[in-house]
Amino acid sequence: MNRSDGSRRLFLKLTALFSAGAALHTGGLLAKPAGMTPQTTRFAMPRTEGIRPVSIASYNGLESVRRATEGMRNGEDTLDAVLAGVNIVEDDPADDSVGYGGLPNEDGVVELDSCVMHGPTMRGAGVAALRGIRNPSRVAKVVMERTDHVLLVGEGALRFARAHGFREENLLTDASREKWLRWKERLSTEDDWLPPHTPEDRNIGALALEEYERPTGTINCLGVNANGDVSGVTTTSGLAFKIPGRVGDSPILGAGLYVDNSVGAAGSTGRGEANLLSLASFLIVERMRQGDTPTDACLFACRRIVEQTKMKRLLDKTGRPAFNVNFYALTIHGEHGSASIWSGKKYAVNDGGESRLLDAAFLYQS
Ligand code: ASP
Repeated sequence: MNRSDGSRRLFLKLTALFSAGAALHTGGLLAKPAGMTPQTTRFAMPRTEGIRPVSIASYNGLESVRRATEGMRNGEDTLDAVLAGVNIVEDDPADDSVGYGGLPNEDGVVELDSCVMHGPTMRGAGVAALRGIRNPSRVAKVVMERTDHVLLVGEGALRFARAHGFREENLLTDASREKWLRWKERLSTEDDWLPPHTPEDRNIGALALEEYERPTGTINCLGVNANGDVSGVTTTSGLAFKIPGRVGDSPILGAGLYVDNSVGAAGSTGRGEANLLSLASFLIVERMRQGDTPTDACLFACRRIVEQTKMKRLLDKTGRPAFNVNFYALTIHGEHGSASIWSGKKYAVNDGGESRLLDAAFLYQS
């Protein structure tokens, strides 16, 4: 991983210097400050021959990266490959953070968010708060391919999916319904929903307020093929027990996912509200364009979120964010990295052999 970071950074710095110098000698560009010219702000990384297909994902994507890399090795388009990878997780009832079996909103209804981005054509689209369709990522791809739009939500997204033949079904499994019920029964001592209790139990209020950790989860998967073409997808059931209609970062291009075929791709999982306020996937891709390694770019985004978090209710006793966000980044050369605000996170990688989990970098030890 990141074997050539040092030489690449040097190369990128030299490229930037050269570009700035070139701007000074280009009559038409002298009207703008050098820093504002396309040459200094948007240079493409050099493409190298013989990149192996590489796919990375959040920790729950071990099988996804295997499928994505295999697909790319067999000549599948990068977006089709990563989509096929995440569809495995969307279809899996055991992953309660994505697709079928995802944890529902506060009314007990599963609402899914997803977006896709295709580097070679620089197209992308998303769907949000989509009910009843287990593969929102596939619907997002059809929005990209068969509409002039970039984002469809709620009822409109469902009607669009129906029109394209997606099958509707109840996405709530018994396991996810039980978790939702457990949350609902412990939410308040003021309502009439009670946790299981015996005739001897007096203090049902204490049972009701028993600590219950709200689960989180999502899958982001990024892939680059041997030509250096890159695509990505993010898909999720979002924040468990959310207000119906709540949309997180996952379906928003620039937040939950961003791809630029001249640089690479980035994606996220974790507290979507923090990422929506920082558009970190876009930020990470831009940092890599400036020469950051994928890991450094992800750490930069983590620091940005820490700086931006001012609300006391979101801080722990030491003044640090009381939540986590996780970023994943991949360059068109196949270099990759991941970072989180808090330690202990891993990400999945497949570059041709066995899929493996690698440690993500972090700002703070948990
Ligand atoms: N980022 C997702 C959201 O905010 C949730 C998660 O990844 O845990 O909807």
